[in-house]
Parts: sequence; structure tokens; C-alpha cells
Amino acid sequence: MPSNQRKILLLPGDGIGPEVVRETKKVIDWFNKKKSLDFKLDQGLIGGAAIDEHGVPITDEVFYKALESDAVIFGACGGPKYDKLEFSKKPERALLKLRKELKLFANLRPAICFKQLVDASSLKPEIVSGLDILIVRELTGGIYFGEPRGVQPIENGERRGVNTHVYTTKEIKRIAKVAFELAAKRNNKVTSCEKSNVMEAGVLWREEVQNLKDNEYKKINLNHMLADNCAMQLLRNPKQFDVILADNLFGDMLSDEAAMLTGSLGLLPSASLGVKDKNGRTRSLYEPVHGSAPDIEGKNISNPIATILSFSMALKYSLGLEKESAHLDKAVEKTLEDGLRTPDIMSKGKKKVSTSDMGDAIISNLN
Ligand code: NAD
Repeated sequence: MPSNQRKILLLPGDGIGPEVVRETKKVIDWFNKKKSLDFKLDQGLIGGAAIDEHGVPITDEVFYKALESDAVIFGACGGPKYDKLEFSKKPERALLKLRKELKLFANLRPAICFKQLVDASSLKPEIVSGLDILIVRELTGGIYFGEPRGVQPIENGERRGVNTHVYTTKEIKRIAKVAFELAAKRNNKVTSCEKSNVMEAGVLWREEVQNLKDNEYKKINLNHMLADNCAMQLLRNPKQFDVILADNLFGDMLSDEAAMLTGSLGLLPSASLGVKDKNGRTRSLYEPVHGSAPDIEGKNISNPIATILSFSMALKYSLGLEKESAHLDKAVEKTLEDGLRTPDIMSKGKKKVSTSDMGDAIISNLN
């Protein structure tokens, strides 16, 4: 493989996945052609599409391609057709397998409010205008994975449900490092969230994050905040934040809350980063925050921006192409500036366009 060649695997999936990934592919092709970049594209079936064709949510062949890729761009999976399948056979298992096997421990979700869309937020324009936060969530530990777990019968015919919130020094330092490194490229500020007032694991989290900052990231401006206060502050004054660091559970909730400050699901990208492989390459998966949206499938009306911005994150975090990423972000912003809107973000006086029109307009603004 030529040294500057990068492998990108497209996994469109189900519902609107194929149409939003199709528009993203146009953008990748543009970079290949106009910027002489050497992206080697491959594509595979995942989720319901793979179940229909091969009887499993992801084949070994596609899984190994994902392991070998510099970046995986995933659309969405799932839909009503598969709702009755037992849990282990559902389309979503493919995504869980990729997250687990690629050891994607860091989930990055930016919440950026484009000035052209301030009215789409449920908060007042002055509170969200110019908002640019990055949530860094731990993705492979904590209460979603801790043991013991389960539901057992107890006396009197009652039952007892158990989940265990557990983190080690290593896991906390690994994710805090990601947050500090990213903050160093932004505004140098990290707010770390936990519940150290009521949880021992929260006390450990706070101490380990502080130790890492004191020893290795002295220039970072770190503050600690109780997770419930952070949820409140996100609505009161979200612009006080730069990077928010949180565990799996609190990060899940805070990132959904922050995401909605920006207005529409169709605009929200995400990145999941893993540990480095033996070649020093960080495994990664990029996907829109939204699902397969079966209610609008096949109508060419979905918003492709979340997936296109996910590719922009891939340019920045996996492909070492920050300038190209900024160029793509500008083209998206210019397209919104031009007044083009898919139906999910439509407002009075703007021009309603289809999924493919939106993709074409972004390409023409790249030019
Ligand atoms: P969803 O995100 O698919 O849709 C929620 C609402 O937002 C729908 O009204 C939909 O039309 C709209 N929407 C979503 N993305 C949009 C876009 N790009 N442009 C315009 N409108 C958009 O969530 P849901 O309805 O709860 O789930 C539908 C299916 O997707 C389920 O099978 C669920 O399991 C699956 N799902 C998959 C993922 C994933 O693959 N990562 C994530 C969430 C849900």
C-alpha cells in the first residue's frame, strides 16, 4: 500500500443510512479528485441489510475490513422489520461488536450551534449562538459493563436488579488523556463530571483526573463539576464549557442533552476512538448520532449533514487532515448560509431541498 494511502470503509446500513452515506461518499470522492488525496474506499453490509443477505448482522469479512481500516464511516442500523428478533440477532449487535472489538473507549460528540440555525434550538438565540462544546464520554466501562449485574428473585416473590458502577485508574486516565489532548487544540479548558458527593467511584474519578492534570497537563484549565449541576449548567449557560469529560452513564445523558441545544438530530456527528493497533494506528468509527429513521426512509428527504460532518471528524482525528476538515465544515456552513434546508431544519423564507440536493450544494461550496 502506498504510504499516503488511507483505507476508509463505508457501512451504510439500514433505513436512511444508505442515502446519507451516499452523499458522504460524494464528498470523499471530491477530496480524492480535487485535493489529490489517496483514500481507498471500500463498502460493506451491516445491520438489517447484512441479516437479509447473509443471516448475520455483520460477516467476518466486513468485520476484518473494519479492523484494517483507517476510518469506518457508519450510517445507521435497525428498523421495524427486525424488532421481533431476539437480542443477540438484532441489527444493533453489529455496532456493539464493532465498538467492543475495535476497543472504542472514547466517544466524541461536538455540540456546535451554527449561527444560521439558532432558531432551531429550544433555547434563546443568545444562549446558544456560537456554541461550540465537545463532550468526551468513556464508552467501554462503568455501569453499562460492570459486574455483578442481573435480576434475581428474592424473598416474598420480589426481585432485585443490580448493575455495578466500576472504574480503574487506568480507564480513568486513558479517557482523561483524550479530553486533555483535545482541549489543548481548542480552548484549553476541561470540565470533568462525576458524583463525588455520593459515589466512591466518583471520588476516585475526580482524584485521578486531577493527578493526571497536575503531572502531565499543567497548562490545562481543569475544573470539576457534579454531573447533575453540569446538566443544569448546560441549559443555563452552555457557552461556559469547552470540553466536558464524563464517564459512560453521565456522558450518555450529558451528550444527548448538549446535542439537543443545537436543534436537530440531522446535524449531529460523532466519533468513537479506540486504542492504537500494532502499527500505531488509532482504530475509529464515525457515525451520525441519529438512527435509521424508518419513517422517512427512501424519500430522499433525510439530512445528510450529520454524516458528512462525521467524515469531517474522521479527516481531523484519524486522517491527520485538519485543514481539509475545516474546509469541509466551512462548505457545510456556507450551504446553510445560502438558505438551503432539508425538511427537518426547514424554516420560513428558506429553500427546501432533498438529501441529494443538499449533498450537491455542499460539493459546490467545497469548490
Ligand atoms: P431516529 O434517530 O432514527 O429517528 C428519530 C426522528 O428523527 C425521526 O422522526 C426521524 O425521521 C428523524 N431523523 C433522524 N435522523 C434524521 C435525519 N438525518 N434527517 C431528518 N430527520 C431525521 O430514532 P428512532 O426513530 O428512535 O429509531 C429508528 C431506528 O433506528 C430503530 O430501529 C433504532 O433501533 C435505530 N437506531 C439506530 C442507531 C444507530 O444505528 N446508531 C441509533 C439510534 C436508533
